[in-house]
Order: sequence, then structure tokens, then C-alpha cells
Amino acid sequence: MLKDGEKGVIRQKGKDIETYAVAPHIPCGVVTPAKLRKLADAAEKYGVSAMKITSAARIALIGIREDQVDDIWRDLGMHAGHAVGLCVRSIKVCPGTSFCRLGQQDSLKMGMKLDEIYHGMVLPSKMKMGVSGCKVQCAENCIKDISLYGTQEGWTLQIGGNGSAKPRLADILAEDLSDEEAVKLVERVIQYYKVNSKRERMGRMIERIGLDTVRSGLKIN
Ligand code: SF4
Repeated sequence: MLKDGEKGVIRQKGKDIETYAVAPHIPCGVVTPAKLRKLADAAEKYGVSAMKITSAARIALIGIREDQVDDIWRDLGMHAGHAVGLCVRSIKVCPGTSFCRLGQQDSLKMGMKLDEIYHGMVLPSKMKMGVSGCKVQCAENCIKDISLYGTQEGWTLQIGGNGSAKPRLADILAEDLSDEEAVKLVERVIQYYKVNSKRERMGRMIERIGLDTVRSGLKIN
């Protein structure tokens, strides 16, 4: 039996037989026709029970047997998304200025950059990120551990949001950031979180030590 995350699988609720899902990494939910064809071909070839578009904008192939796992990954030729474990799970990104008339900043470009740096990074607890092109926040920034949304003046960085059984809305940490300033501040927040979190999510850390402590630790007025 495979563990969650081993060989990129997500364990399913078994009835008579243990089955798994695989959910390849699709950075920012942007996918090519060729990749979609590969996913559809693999789904047919291995007789999956369902294809599910996940909340992290991945396409999960569900109902795979253990003896099919290596073959399906070989056929897909894609990396596994980090859907489980204590790490950066996903970077949810709205269409932004690329495809939305309301966009104020290029969320796809920023999301791809964050995805490249952080997706799968091991941390004290799980972390979700979001990037939205404007304050409407279609990437659900308010319930992400770290997020950015665009305004005419730049990026607003929020921290400490989460869904879960005990939801928490994010706090604004900084506003009017340039692309470069936003990327650098996200890096500093991650470093601070690595040192100060007691295996808790960002929002719980803020509740324990206070937002003012976090701001002063990051030297933000
Ligand atoms: S957050 Fe703004 S830019 Fe992004 S999809 Fe929503 S309305 Fe468009």
C-alpha cells in the first residue's frame, strides 16, 4: 500500500480495494491542448473512475490501482502536484490583466513566478497562496496563508488567511508594492514563518504572537 504523497498519489477511500488519485502539477491552472490530450488519453487507457478539476486547479485522475501508478506517470510525463503534506500546496491565480478586463496587475506572471519558487517547498505547516489581479480577489486571497492582489498602485500583500474548520480572514501586511518588492517581501515572510511557526499555519502563528510582532519582526511600519 502506498502512503499519501508517495509516488505522487493521493489515497482514496477504499471499498473493497485500495485505490489512488494522481493530480499532475498545472502551474496557475494554465494548460495546453497537448497536456489535456495526455490526461484524457491516460484516463481512458487506465480506466479511471473519474476526472476531477480540483480546487487547486489541477485535474485529478481518480481510481487508479497501485500497479498502474508508475505507468500512468510515465505516460503523462508530468510532475505531481503537491496536494498533500506540510509544504506549499498550491498557488491559486486569477486571469488578471492577461485575460480579465478588470485586472490591475499581471497576476498570471506573478503567480508563475511564485509557483516556480515555492510550489512544494517544505514548511512547518501546509501553506496556500493566492494571486489576484484586482481587489475583487477571485483567487480567494482572504483565505490564503500568503496572497497578493493588484491595485493601480501595485500589489497588496495579505497573510494569515485560511479556510478549514476554523476559518480566518487574512490581514493586510503591506500595500503599493512593485513586482520586485512583492516577491522580496513574500520571501521575507516565508523566512520569518519558517523560524517562528510552531508547526502551525500562518494565521494561527499570528493569533499566537500578534500581527504587530510579525510586522516589527519584518521591519514593516
Ligand atoms: S480578481 Fe479581478 S482581475 Fe482577477 S479575475 Fe477577478 S475581477 Fe478579474
